[in-house]
Amino acid sequence: MAPFFDDLSAGWRSAPAGTPETPIRASYRCQCGRAVFFRNSQCVACGTALGYDPQRALVLPIVAAEGGDGAPVWQAAEGFGDAALRYRRCTNFDTVAGCNWLLAADEPATLCIACRLNRTIPDLSQPDNAALWRRSEVAKRRLVAQLLRLGLPVKSRVSEDPERGVMFDLLRSSAGAPPVMTGHDEGLITLNAEEADDARREQVRASMHEPYRTMLGHFRHEIGHYYWDRLVRDTEWLEPFRLRFGDEREDYDAALRRHYENGPDPLWPQRCVSAYASTHPWEDWAETWAHYLHMVDTMLTARGMGIGGDNIELEIEPFTMADLDAPDAPGADRFLQFVNTWVELSAAMNELSRAMGQQDHYPFVLSRPAVAKLHFVHRLVSATREATNATPEPTPVTVDPVEAAVSAPAETASSAPAA
Ligand SMILES: [Zn+2]
Ligand SMILES: [Zn+2]
Ligand SMILES: [Zn+2]
Repeated sequence: MAPFFDDLSAGWRSAPAGTPETPIRASYRCQCGRAVFFRNSQCVACGTALGYDPQRALVLPIVAAEGGDGAPVWQAAEGFGDAALRYRRCTNFDTVAGCNWLLAADEPATLCIACRLNRTIPDLSQPDNAALWRRSEVAKRRLVAQLLRLGLPVKSRVSEDPERGVMFDLLRSSAGAPPVMTGHDEGLITLNAEEADDARREQVRASMHEPYRTMLGHFRHEIGHYYWDRLVRDTEWLEPFRLRFGDEREDYDAALRRHYENGPDPLWPQRCVSAYASTHPWEDWAETWAHYLHMVDTMLTARGMGIGGDNIELEIEPFTMADLDAPDAPGADRFLQFVNTWVELSAAMNELSRAMGQQDHYPFVLSRPAVAKLHFVHRLVSATREATNATPEPTPVTVDPVEAAVSAPAETASSAPAA
């Protein structure tokens, strides 16, 4: 039987959704053939409804299905996804959050896995809060999709796991009250929703002399603190953490005060991924963790669109095995390849940004100790994913980001005749 090379969704049609071979995609296809993306809830070309299945990491064209008592039930359009699955939309689809995520129709929850992490959302009766909340949720969905893909535990502290889960307070300061402080405390992440206001965030970024400040960056940083508690604090990773990042028992409040009064350690570029990371080992961890998530998402997106770092014309001095956290660890050579590809890709992206008069896409230079710290994060995430995949519970489709990002594009694609 002739393969469907005229149809770029062929990859999905031939591989049942949810198999480990599911290729990395950064864009998806509607049933009309048009490219659609992670954020889309409707095809702009043909009007077909779209939904994101977080378990299978797929944007699917969906059509109404039989059944359901009240809430509409959906199924993937013919030839897409698993024909046997029935879905409901997240109830936040009908709010300003505009959530495009799907749940299994028989799940008792009405909010998707990303939305049910919220404990508090901004007061929508106040001006502008709707827009701030919407932008916050766009960043949060990107975060949660990535965490699931990496095989990290994601459970709501509000409704699923009150002991070990995570939850969000997305808050806006009210007049006369003290400002909302972004931070993490024992599974509660508080985000100042005003950071979703571009003018305000840029003003803060400039006044704090930060090279990079985004909502997604805040989410990735704060969830790093959560995973430190969850995956490092009471585990065999704690001592290796201290050797790599320093002793977190150092007085945290004093460290923060010192940072804000005297500025960062002048030697931070030789030690950390960012100036703020030099404040305290906890912040070094959260910043490194966030950079790991930035790198992984960007590399997978590039690879998913057929952009490899290997064809970038740039001479860099590559990092070596000696720069890694554990050169003997399985896959260390692949991680090295990943980092060196990232250096080329990010340099190219920065130059592209400058060509548009924009700020650098990745305004950082990695030092050797920072690479070792990133490798530490990668090793911990990999070990966590392996443990998650080994459990008998049904888990989301996961991916080893390094293997996926640095391997050549799928062989089948290169042997395909031109349509
Ligand atoms: Zn369409
Ligand atoms: Zn949702
Ligand atoms: Zn922090």
